[in-house]
Amino acid sequence: MSRRRQLYEGKAKVLFEGPEPGTLVQYFKDDATAFNNQKRGVITGKGVLNNRISEYLMTRLNEIGVPTHFLRRLNMREQLVKEVEIIPLEVVVRNVAAGSLSTRLGIQEGTALPRSIVEFYYKNDQLGDPMVTEEHITCFGWASPPEIDEIMSLALRVNDFLSGLFLGVGIRLVDFKLEFGRYWEGEEMRIILADEISPDSCRLWDLATNDKMDKDRFRRDLGNVAEAYQEVARRLGILPEGGPRDMKGPAIMQ
Ligand code: UDP
Repeated sequence: MSRRRQLYEGKAKVLFEGPEPGTLVQYFKDDATAFNNQKRGVITGKGVLNNRISEYLMTRLNEIGVPTHFLRRLNMREQLVKEVEIIPLEVVVRNVAAGSLSTRLGIQEGTALPRSIVEFYYKNDQLGDPMVTEEHITCFGWASPPEIDEIMSLALRVNDFLSGLFLGVGIRLVDFKLEFGRYWEGEEMRIILADEISPDSCRLWDLATNDKMDKDRFRRDLGNVAEAYQEVARRLGILPEGGPRDMKGPAIMQ
C-alpha cells in the first residue's frame, strides 16, 4: 500500500492520490467500527465485498443519470474515483423506522414510514455526527440553499431507484447514508454522489424473513456478518468470480 501517497485514512476506507490529477484511489478495508468508534472489529472479506457492491450500485446510478464520483474498479479492494470537495454532511434517507430514529422518537423498529424522510447530520467524529437542520447548514456555510435542494432531490432519486433495485432481489431498503461532494467541470460546479453505498452504510432486510443483511449484524453482535454481505452481493449477481476464497485480503490484490 506504499506505492501511492496516502491522503486520508477513515474507519473503513483509505484514500490515496490517484494516477491522474483530479482522481483518487479509494481502498476498502475490512475494519469495522460502530457507536462512534467505541466498538471495533474486523470483518474478513468486507472490503472486497463493499468495493464490488458500491461499484455495482454507483454504476447503475450513473446509468440513470445520477452523477457519482465512481470512475472504475481497479482491483479487489480499490476503485478510482473523481476527487471532490466533500460537503461535511451525512445525508440519511429512511423508508422504515430503525436505528436512531426508533430510539430517539420511540417508533417501533420495522414501522413503515408514510413517506420517505431525509435527515442531515454534521460530519464530525468529535461531536458524534450531530443531527442538524437546513438552518444550521446554511448558517454555518456547509452548503447553500440551492445545494441543499440539489442534495435532497438526488437523495430521493437514489432512494426510489435503489428501493426498486433491492426489492427486485428480495431485499427491503430500510435506510441508508449518502455523502456528496462538489466537482468542477471547467467553470461549472456540480454536486455529485461520493463515498460508498454498501451494507456498511445501508440497512437491508430480507423481504421474506426480515433478517438483517447489513452492518447491524456487527453493531448488535448477530454473527455471520461477512456471510450477510456476501448474500447481498450474490443476490445482486456480483460475487467475486473465485468465490469466497477470493476475499481473504490484500494478498490477492492485482
Ligand atoms: N449510517 C452510516 N454512517 C453513520 C451513521 C449512519 O452509514 O455514521 C447509516 C446506517 O448504517 C443506517 C443509516 O445511516 O443505514 C441510519 O443510521 P441511524 O441514524 O439509524 O444511526 P445508527 O443506528 O446507525 O447509529
